[in-house]
Amino acid sequence: MHYTGPTYRPPYEAESLLLQVTAGCSHNKCTFCSMYQDVPFEVSPIEEIEEDLIQAARYGDFCDRVFLVNGDAFCLSFERLAEIAELVHRYLPRVESIGGYASINNVLTKSEDELRELTRLGYADFNIGLESGLDDVLAYMNKGYTLSQAREAFARLNAAGMPFNLNIITAAAGPNRIVEHAAANAAIVNEASPTLIFVSPLHVDPGARLEQLVAEGDFEECVLGDYITEEIEFLKRLDVQDCVFFGLHVSNPVRVAGLLPRDKERLVQELELGYGRFSDWQLEKVPPKGSEGRMIG
Ligand code: SF4
Repeated sequence: MHYTGPTYRPPYEAESLLLQVTAGCSHNKCTFCSMYQDVPFEVSPIEEIEEDLIQAARYGDFCDRVFLVNGDAFCLSFERLAEIAELVHRYLPRVESIGGYASINNVLTKSEDELRELTRLGYADFNIGLESGLDDVLAYMNKGYTLSQAREAFARLNAAGMPFNLNIITAAAGPNRIVEHAAANAAIVNEASPTLIFVSPLHVDPGARLEQLVAEGDFEECVLGDYITEEIEFLKRLDVQDCVFFGLHVSNPVRVAGLLPRDKERLVQELELGYGRFSDWQLEKVPPKGSEGRMIG
């Protein structure tokens, strides 16, 4: 199999075949992200993708999902994605769905008809790194899109019937805007109606532009208690149907997961209980940097 540089996937894609279709990330400019800094962006040749599928098929018809890597696999054109789906189904006939990381801009480069056709070809549950429901935070984090563009992308996906997952970064607006950020995130997520919400705290990773901004005093990091409080405030405001709430990443201070709206009360209780288990000095400290990659898109 071809893998260039670091390869990331969400925790819930552990059983999926990781199929490289690009190296690096086509955006590669998010303020908090250092994952692909040293990897030039490249589109994998179709021959290389086919070789990998042939190699994977030698192990038998073992998987029902393929997760395309790397950073924002959905940046590929409609035509290339259709070609990849045809190869996946040819060599791995048991595969039911194909996902990967996607950015809002990746979605906006496809028409509603193209998204509908990609859904028919098995594309589903792309992991979209929305990160924040506040325009100034999106701009500060250099995500490359506005909230109104995100709304357009969600409307297009929903109209095309393509289910999707959303990533939200807690405490990305800093310690003085915990409730404001939680409320704005819940509002846009409620409107978007995703299949799964992946919540994880902001990391200030070594080498990321954010590390420099923190050192210069331009950005104030949250303390452990803020992360948990924001997650609770966010969760309380969610009004979604049949949606997985996933907060089981290694960087989540209290790990919870469940189905909304059914498990909402239990999840809030578990987060509150988890908060109570930390001592005051732990809650008031900036958590150590995670060694695991942030979940992206
Ligand atoms: S967070 Fe995602 S879109 Fe942003 S630079 Fe990193 S991989 Fe690319």
